[in-house]
Amino acid sequence: MTTKTALVTGANKGIGYEIAAGLGALGWRVGVGARDDARRESAVEKLRAAGHDVFGVPLDVTDDASVARAADRLDELDVLVNNAGITGGMQQRPTTADLDVVRTVVETNVIGVIRVTNAFLPLLRRSASPRIVNMSSGVGSLARQSAPDASELTIGPVAVAYSPSKTFLNGVTVQYARELRDTNIKINVACPGFVATDLNNFRGVRTPEEGAHIAIKLATLPDDGPTGGYFEDAGRIPW
Ligand code: NAP
Repeated sequence: MTTKTALVTGANKGIGYEIAAGLGALGWRVGVGARDDARRESAVEKLRAAGHDVFGVPLDVTDDASVARAADRLDELDVLVNNAGITGGMQQRPTTADLDVVRTVVETNVIGVIRVTNAFLPLLRRSASPRIVNMSSGVGSLARQSAPDASELTIGPVAVAYSPSKTFLNGVTVQYARELRDTNIKINVACPGFVATDLNNFRGVRTPEEGAHIAIKLATLPDDGPTGGYFEDAGRIPW
């Protein structure tokens, strides 16, 4: 059996770290993608101490040169998990929107995913069972956002940058799935639930390990598994 290789972006902490640990626990080689040298090295050390076969990959998803260098470092890749993401901070009321925040969030959460995916596609195309997992959020669901009973409690605060960036990412994923339909590449969207991480000042109710679960499941889909879908632990999410 050949060892699979995965790359997780934003893997130095939070959900990304636990996705790396979970794939490592399967015996996979895992690239820990992170933009900050010290944070990346400390995560790599911790994962190695836990017995995982990991390697650090310097990677800022907003930077063309950084992403190109990262792709050059790898010679094989079976699974790409586009996990890196930012909220841009709250509050984000549309009527008082800071356009720089909107741009920055879209640059990271959407353009960053396209940039990274396209840089690693040549390697993924050489894999026997390539998988791409895009870490979105339930707040990207237009069906949930526009439900008559939608409230801050059920679908988060009104947010002109973060939530629509995840809706945009969902749409982008569907376009990839359409273009890649006749290949062996499966690309899906994962929603981790409300997870206690830096992203929300640890207000989430799930652990990062629980949040990682759906991404690991989509990263390890069998060859007859779905593509172009939007999933949380409980099953499909309405777009
Ligand atoms: P987190 O703890 O803040 O981790 C975010 C990760 O993304 C960090 O490693 C961060 O690196 C990295 N990152 C941010 N910008 C980057 C860039 N330009 N290049 C490379 N890496 C970058 O947050 P998290 O909760 O684990 O979030 C992981 C993913 O899950 C995100 O896409 C988020 O939107 C999604 N999500 C989270 C929740 C939740 O409840 N936590 C819910 C739904 C979806 P630095 O350490 O260098 O900043």
